[in-house]
Amino acid sequence: MALNLVFLGPPGAGKGSIAEAIVKKYGLAHISTGELIRAEVAAKTALGKRLEKIINAGNLVSNEDAKSLVENKVGGLKKKGNFKGIIFDGYPRSLVQAGGFEELLGKFNEKISAVVYIESSEEQIVKRLSARWHCPKCKKDYNMIFGPPKLKGKCDIDGAKIVRREDDEPEIIKKRYRVFLEETAPVIGFFEKKGLLKKYDGNAPLRESIARAEKIVAPLLMQP
Ligand SMILES: [Zn+2]
Repeated sequence: MALNLVFLGPPGAGKGSIAEAIVKKYGLAHISTGELIRAEVAAKTALGKRLEKIINAGNLVSNEDAKSLVENKVGGLKKKGNFKGIIFDGYPRSLVQAGGFEELLGKFNEKISAVVYIESSEEQIVKRLSARWHCPKCKKDYNMIFGPPKLKGKCDIDGAKIVRREDDEPEIIKKRYRVFLEETAPVIGFFEKKGLLKKYDGNAPLRESIARAEKIVAPLLMQP
């Protein structure tokens, strides 16, 4: 049976990297709605042009549009053959999307194997994301925990004063974290009631967090 997983986690939980590691290990496909939207815009289809306008105006893509992007992608993957399953990253993210998700998969004779929730504390997320700095001049990235510049606050290459993205200021991170919890709590509750939720403590270095995710995923392959 195919392995179809939904990955949920706040920004900064390492969701993308963890999903990518599981995808590689089990030969799965990876569907990220962010990537689907970018690809559609780049392809300049009628839908892509419409989505571009919505995004440029600072609005969110509607449930309906997100659903049809995901549906087209799943259909395409199933047609290609050798289908082993999909990790859904960033979808479903609202209760409306979660409600229609089983039906969407059902159209392709697929079902959700599990919803993996990477629990991460606000403290951990702030620590991780606020460590990301870069040089505005040469664009070199610095991680203040794993690879700080040699001279405090200065780029190793050109000596320019390094900065943090506005999004990664602690106050903004905390706000994004709270928005995530508010939006996602109902989705988590929805899947928990269906007995599909598998959560784990993601407050660990990335490698350890990947190992914990694998421990959840491996037994699912044994299910009939
Ligand atoms: Zn520089």
